[in-house]
Amino acid sequence: METRGLWWNIHDFPYHKEIFYVLFVISLVFFIYGFYLKIKTWAQGKPKNNFNDFPKRIKYMFDKSFLHKGWGKNKLVLIAHILVFYGFFVLWIGTDILTVQDKMPEYFFEGAFYKAYSLFMDLCGLLMLVGLIAFGYIRYVKKPSRLDNSQNDWIQLIYLEAFVIVGFLIEGLRQSATNQIEPYAPIGACVALLVNTLSYDIKKIIHLTLWWAHSMQTFSFIALIPYTKFSHMFLAPANLFFFDTKPKGALTTPFNLAEILTMDNPPEDFAQTINTIQDFSWKDLMDLDTCTACGRCQEVCPATNSEKPLSPKWLILDLKQIMNNEPLYKHRFKGTQEVQSSNQLLNSISQETLWSCTTCRACVESCPVGIDQLTKIVELRRTLISENKAPNNLLNTLKNIRSRSNPWGQPPEDREKWTEGLDVPKVDSTPDFEYLYWIGCAGAYDSRNQNIAKTMVNLLKKAEVKFAILGKKEKCTGDTARRAGDEGLFQELALENIETFNSKNIKKIITHCPHCFNTFKNEYPEFGLKEVQVLHHTEILWDLIKQGKLVMNKEVSEQITYHDSCYLGRHNGQYDAPRNILNKVPGLKYIEMENSKEKGTCCGGGGAQLWYEAPGKQINVMRLNEVKESSAKTVASACPFCTIMLETARTLDKSGEPPVVQDISEIVARTAL
Ligand code: SF4
Ligand code: SF4
Repeated sequence: METRGLWWNIHDFPYHKEIFYVLFVISLVFFIYGFYLKIKTWAQGKPKNNFNDFPKRIKYMFDKSFLHKGWGKNKLVLIAHILVFYGFFVLWIGTDILTVQDKMPEYFFEGAFYKAYSLFMDLCGLLMLVGLIAFGYIRYVKKPSRLDNSQNDWIQLIYLEAFVIVGFLIEGLRQSATNQIEPYAPIGACVALLVNTLSYDIKKIIHLTLWWAHSMQTFSFIALIPYTKFSHMFLAPANLFFFDTKPKGALTTPFNLAEILTMDNPPEDFAQTINTIQDFSWKDLMDLDTCTACGRCQEVCPATNSEKPLSPKWLILDLKQIMNNEPLYKHRFKGTQEVQSSNQLLNSISQETLWSCTTCRACVESCPVGIDQLTKIVELRRTLISENKAPNNLLNTLKNIRSRSNPWGQPPEDREKWTEGLDVPKVDSTPDFEYLYWIGCAGAYDSRNQNIAKTMVNLLKKAEVKFAILGKKEKCTGDTARRAGDEGLFQELALENIETFNSKNIKKIITHCPHCFNTFKNEYPEFGLKEVQVLHHTEILWDLIKQGKLVMNKEVSEQITYHDSCYLGRHNGQYDAPRNILNKVPGLKYIEMENSKEKGTCCGGGGAQLWYEAPGKQINVMRLNEVKESSAKTVASACPFCTIMLETARTLDKSGEPPVVQDISEIVARTAL
């Protein structure tokens, strides 16, 4: 029956097997010690409970690491990684099978099992080699800008390629020397045919030499895993397993203002700002260690793509260097002004880097190893705000929110001025309302968005929806304040708004704005908003259309595309309602832009960037250019911030005929009113 000696040739030399096992144990010691050091470093971070809901965690880890979900954009990278990942996995399991057989009294390494094993190992080795060559091609021939080749990645590629090739040579030499050419191990058989002319003794000597070279490669590989990029084999699944199960759109909550206000002796340092790297949570520190510098976050970052001084990749790598007491990479943003802070950590990261983020979440969604760049940026912003260090525009915006409950600084008593001449029901005078229609600051004060709010009012009336608005009792939700880093102001607003909702017995809310939608749905529950259904206006419009309460019967013969709002899309996974509506409009030709849905390009207005834009190109202009490339004549929006940003881009457009910007509700009104 077909088989082979597990220690063929090695048995002929005394103590080689024993030395092999001693070296193996030594490599394991290095391996365990390396990970021990990592865990010790992470343990210096703040506590965080990421140990709940094991089934959900296992599924997430399995989907992302084994099934490669979310890797779709670059097919070549996806295929290369699958080949290397599964090729390596099978070779690893195959080696373990040999160890098990070596220790087991019963012999199973023969016959059909042996043939299948040999075939599978050969094919997986070959596929892994193909994947490694593809990685080399991507990195050193295609050279995408997201990858920097300054690190020694080529050594690791060569190392693994040599590993597979030497394995094939050993196999071929054994087959040839034992006169057992194994067609079920085809790569080894080919090598055997190539070396057949060598003498038996030469084959044995070369085999022994290569066998030890292969073994030393294996041991050094095991020992080096925790200290090199190879560590991501273990860190990536572990980091994915410990992902944050909170809603995607919710930021971390460093303190609870309501609880602090009830304390007799509140702690002085309740703000929990980030002054040293250890002020991040252990999971944040684990994130830093897990980064493979793949640059996918940078590739999709609107700040990087508009030449602003932010790359989520280099921010994470800089923080990693700080964690490991190594020199920073921050020289990549030459030209940024360093504003000295009393905070050592913030002296290392350019403040302009932190103020360049639109909080669009594209980086988080694209990271294959589950790193949350966005939350770290906001947490660092909180520290800047605690030191009153922010661009003046932003400080003024926060001042406006604090003193006038809206970022524009408009008088609070003017909040319902837009309703003049329009009979809009108010909560206080409409006892039987079902929905609160939440206008938000943009809808209340920005003239372009006031028109959209009026349109929505007309549509809701037409569909006979029982709704009412709060009018002057509305206050900013605090989205901008929270994302700018003013957590205290956000929580003050949240508590006040929740009190209003509770006092008016509000159970259903339609929001005009995806930012308000996200804040109510994902962030307010932590502060006491319970059992309230939150809908974005596109959701209710689609429901009304499906129920036949809004009939879209007039033709809109136009080519229209849809710009995804980050806060409706990536933060909340809502992609369908706006598209469903547009696809139902008679005569309308819907065009999908290349960068849409999960890959949608940000308008540049989120994360308080509507009131401050870092130096660099204008993101809204870049997005409008993408609309123009789609050949759509109108771009539909579902967010007041996006509308403002795209309208501003139109005014800067030199082409003479920029695409028209319309809210989804305005398009529905054209066909249904
Ligand atoms: S959230 Fe958006 S803007 Fe901010 S770093 Fe990530 S990709 Fe860049
Ligand atoms: S943070 Fe994630 S996506 Fe960005 S470079 Fe690191 S591993 Fe890649």
